[in-house]
Amino acid sequence: MKKRVTLTFPKKIVQIPVTYRLAKDFNIAASILRAQVAPNQVGKLVLELSGDIDALESAIEWLKTQGIGVSLASREILINEESCVDCGLCTGVCPTEALILEPETFKLKLLRSRCVFCEQCIVACPVGAITTNL
Ligand code: SF4
Ligand code: SF4
Repeated sequence: MKKRVTLTFPKKIVQIPVTYRLAKDFNIAASILRAQVAPNQVGKLVLELSGDIDALESAIEWLKTQGIGVSLASREILINEESCVDCGLCTGVCPTEALILEPETFKLKLLRSRCVFCEQCIVACPVGAITTNL
């Protein structure tokens, strides 16, 4: 699967060889769509990442542990927590397990990095608690 991400590098870590590490450690191909990187300045990279969904999630977590800001595609699924009754119907239609009921609390949880914006959850929700920001 593919994900588009924007990476923001603090000044001191601009030199991390991100695309090399993504390929070597996570088997993820990263295409640079836009780059704005200069010594001693905050850098930005827009990448399209291709790879296994679990590897993508691990890679995104790794990027965050390196102090790199990661923002996923600007389109997002939104859950209205006041309307949601935690029935779990949306979890049954989500193809990537981005929506789960937490085992301890039985509360709905959205794992944003797994979402592929198929929008199946929106029509599945009986109370209209799921929308998008766009
Ligand atoms: S849009 Fe699709 S992938 Fe994303 S949470 Fe809803 S059902 Fe899951
Ligand atoms: S289907 Fe709607 S009400 Fe049910 S858990 Fe999902 S978001 Fe909440």
